[in-house]
Amino acid sequence: MGPSTRLSRCIRSARLWVVLGILAPLGMVAVCTAMLLELRQDAWDKARQTSRNLLQVIERDIERNVEIIDLTLQGVVDNLKMPGLADLAPDFRQRVLFDRAVNAKDLGVVLVLDENGDTVFDAGGWPARRLNNAGRAYFKAHRDDPGIGLHISQPLISHLTGKPVIVLSRRIDKADGSFGGLVLGSLSMSYFSRLFDRIELGRAGAINLFLQDGTRLLRYPEPDAVLAPSFARAPNFLRFLREGSGSFVGATQSDGLERLYAFTRVGHLPLILNVALSTREIEAEWRAKALVIGGIVLALCGLTVGLSLLAGWELRRRTAAEAELALLSRTDALTSLPNRRHFTETFERTFAEVRRCGGSLALLVVDADHFKRYNDRYGHAVGDRVLRELARALEPSARRPADLVARVGGEEFAILLPDADADGAARVAQAVHEAVAGLRVEAEGVGIGPITVSIGLASGRPRDGGSTAELFRLADAALYAAKAEGRNRTCSARACPSGAWAPEPGAATLQVVGAAASVV
Ligand code: GH3
Ligand code: MG
Ligand code: MG
Repeated sequence: MGPSTRLSRCIRSARLWVVLGILAPLGMVAVCTAMLLELRQDAWDKARQTSRNLLQVIERDIERNVEIIDLTLQGVVDNLKMPGLADLAPDFRQRVLFDRAVNAKDLGVVLVLDENGDTVFDAGGWPARRLNNAGRAYFKAHRDDPGIGLHISQPLISHLTGKPVIVLSRRIDKADGSFGGLVLGSLSMSYFSRLFDRIELGRAGAINLFLQDGTRLLRYPEPDAVLAPSFARAPNFLRFLREGSGSFVGATQSDGLERLYAFTRVGHLPLILNVALSTREIEAEWRAKALVIGGIVLALCGLTVGLSLLAGWELRRRTAAEAELALLSRTDALTSLPNRRHFTETFERTFAEVRRCGGSLALLVVDADHFKRYNDRYGHAVGDRVLRELARALEPSARRPADLVARVGGEEFAILLPDADADGAARVAQAVHEAVAGLRVEAEGVGIGPITVSIGLASGRPRDGGSTAELFRLADAALYAAKAEGRNRTCSARACPSGAWAPEPGAATLQVVGAAASVV
């Protein structure tokens, strides 16, 4: 088989198309999955980068603001040490004490408290608004710990404004180092709202600012229902505290939603900031794309599988139809026996095989006697029926797989018997005569009488010479002899005059096998 034949057979293989039709979509699905996973990774990288940037911007702003307020407070502490401060005119003293406070934009109230918690000076004017803050936690913290530095309070409601504020404070030491009160500045919570307002966090995103003790100073965009809730034991907060800065994906305790947390400490301040983005929203855009791309790819895959199954089915149908056609082209339509073409091919092939193996080959040409008369007397349809009956009677002659019974002409049949000698072939001929003698065919309910055949038999060893045409000619000559001798008999071929074809010994004589009978 040449390469082009192999290729064409391969292309016509239904299985190949079905396998290709399944492998190709599998490949498409694999490529599409890899692509979608990459897109998902991109979405996550972008979200991580965005939260890092947000964190950085917010952290810098808060740190700078707290630093400005702290500088203001330190300025007041320094100015309080100025000699002769108490003797200055109130207006001038106010300006000296609180000159830096004007730089701190988000600073609310600035007060100086004495060691009892009473207001001494007030950046808002002279005399100071009367107030005692000795009960505040920040006051106690400074009183009890001289080294506390800048203190940032929990959110609390201002006694003066009635609004939530964070108080930043610094201790004032007396000359002997003992507690001399404190300077405080309040930072309005609206500062944070203004800061975060410009930030796009998505619908489920959030920004949280914690004190180091776990108190949440604020939550954006939805503020806490209670002031200063504690998250000291919350797993997420403990992780912020432990790792200092970084990011992770975790569930939020309050609503159970999964979020990407990016967190950091705000400079050296006791503040922890985090930005949390909803993982659903991070993947939302990707998910929409994945749905469209995945849908299209799956539809294409389905189409490919469907088409290849269809192609496979069509190829299989065609192959079956071709096989059927091939069979029909080699079958006689009337008797369903192999036709002349089939016989010729088989005869050539068998002849070559027997010659190669050194065996013998017998050929019987069987012809219905006076068949024309059936047609003439009973009509063509009855003639056809006789032919079919004859075919049924001849069929059992092929006992071995290599034997062949074929219709080779109008009322002429051939029986090919590989590896049969003259005696064996004569026995088959005898059986044919007996089977035909037993046929009963009726026309309009009346028997048409005995049917007989004449048989020409030729057999020999192909190795000794000759050809299929020669063997057939010999059998035909024997048939002619049988007809001439009175029909309903078998004649065996005589020795070939050229000697090229050697008939079986003892098979060269005329042999009358059938019972003599007149036909119709
Ligand atoms: P013989 O004994 O010498 O062979 O005489 P015969 O009548 O059998 O031979 P002949 O060659 O004179 O006639 C054969 C007839 O077979 C002629 C033809 O009409 C008929 N025949 C050939 N094919 C068919 C067929 O398929 N169906 C029918 N019904 N008749 C056919
Ligand atoms: Mg004939
Ligand atoms: Mg005939």
